[in-house]
Amino acid sequence: MSVISVLAARRAESIGNHVSIQGWIRTRRDSKGGFSFLEVNDGSCMGNIQVIADQSLENYEDEIKKLTAGCSVTVVGEVKESQGKQATEVHAASVAVHGWADPEEFPLQKKRHSFEKLREWAHLRPRTNTFGAVARVRNCICRSIHNFYQERDFLYVHTPIITASDCEGAGELFRVTTLDMEDPPRQNGRIDYALDFFDRPSFLTVSGQLEAEIYATALGKVYTFGPTFRAENSNTSRHLAEFWMVEPEVAFCDLDGNMDLAESFLKRIFRDVLEQCPEDMQFFNDRIEKTTIETLTAIVDSDFERVPYTEAIDILEQCGKQFDFPVTWGSDLQSEHERFLTEEHFGKPVILFDYPRTIKPFYMRVNDDEKTVRAMDVLVPKVGEIIGGSQREERLDVLESRMVEQELQPEEYWWYLDLRRFGTTPHAGFGLGLERAVQFVTGMANIRDVIPFPRTPGNAEF
Ligand code: ATP
Ligand code: MN
Repeated sequence: MSVISVLAARRAESIGNHVSIQGWIRTRRDSKGGFSFLEVNDGSCMGNIQVIADQSLENYEDEIKKLTAGCSVTVVGEVKESQGKQATEVHAASVAVHGWADPEEFPLQKKRHSFEKLREWAHLRPRTNTFGAVARVRNCICRSIHNFYQERDFLYVHTPIITASDCEGAGELFRVTTLDMEDPPRQNGRIDYALDFFDRPSFLTVSGQLEAEIYATALGKVYTFGPTFRAENSNTSRHLAEFWMVEPEVAFCDLDGNMDLAESFLKRIFRDVLEQCPEDMQFFNDRIEKTTIETLTAIVDSDFERVPYTEAIDILEQCGKQFDFPVTWGSDLQSEHERFLTEEHFGKPVILFDYPRTIKPFYMRVNDDEKTVRAMDVLVPKVGEIIGGSQREERLDVLESRMVEQELQPEEYWWYLDLRRFGTTPHAGFGLGLERAVQFVTGMANIRDVIPFPRTPGNAEF
């Protein structure tokens, strides 16, 4: 007798098999006819398997009739065709109880809790339908990410989590130190990080890009996929202090190639989720965001809009809509502007490109107009920016002067400049925030609900 998943037991092919199922009780209902219906879930899918436990079972009165939501069980029995909604059910030959869950105390006994409340129970929320579905969809997206790049012969490279380069000033940094914070060594009144573990100030990485460039300019096509950290003290529904980022980097690639890659990458993720997680996606569509399946299906079949920043500014200035933040050429777009463009004006994903040089980091390639750089952001409805990327500056002299312009010390980036000194090539890449992708696909409103253990200001208990 083999242990099979609930997912497998619910398939018609399992009918007639004697199996063992292990999971947690969702509900128990007793029938007048002297048997009980147990709904068992094991996380392999959204749906439960219905187990029929007859009073002839030796522990029927003492145990089976006392089962409540959350109890863990092993059921041995035969899979039979069901007369009910589902294809199959299991007729139990035995039901062994591993662990009880006192209904007076088990918090998930009550049917519905708000997502805010469930955040306080990060240790129990994966037992709910919503968080089970999020976990499965997130897993599907990760598999899709690796498949997409592996099929295209990208090398998966691991970039460091601890770094000494304050990498592009992309966000606020978390410091990594072993110094005694109660009594740190000082030099001229300031903390002397030369005496720290790495002999220099060091931080948790905000992006693996600079290191990915090192590998791309040696091996061609690479991607990194790992945790990144930003100590931005912004309590928004789209920012985490710890999030996962996928960053492809491609040698001999320009901005057009970069946009093509980003577009086919996102479409592949959306297609895979629709195909591989139909039950979970139906749940999100019914319960969380009524248009998510329709939106994803439409996106997979149509082209993203590609719009220069300057043109987007014209659209925003002329649209007649009152924004909280003013729109002027040279300032960064706010979330309200991005969402207007993708949701209202174009009604589809938009790739904005060629941003003003003054608002973008030093490594983005300067255009011939000298005013803009080869940056691109991919914007999607509801979420706004989901991808940020650029063609990188491959000309040594331009790169050095951009660093000086942004008050960085070129000497500190000597290794990055070496990539331009020795066999420089055009190259490009971008970063996709994994959680933003999960948010977009599922329609979950808050980014804290699409990562198992969200790290935000003031929250790190679990
Ligand atoms: P935003 O403007 O939304 O704060 P950003 O421009 O600072 O993002 P990038 O440095 O371009 O972000 O990072 C690349 C991608 O990483 C973003 O497009 C987004 O998907 C994701 N990302 C950035 N910051 C966060 C964060 N704090 N939490 C979750 N995802 C993030
Ligand atoms: Mn960005």
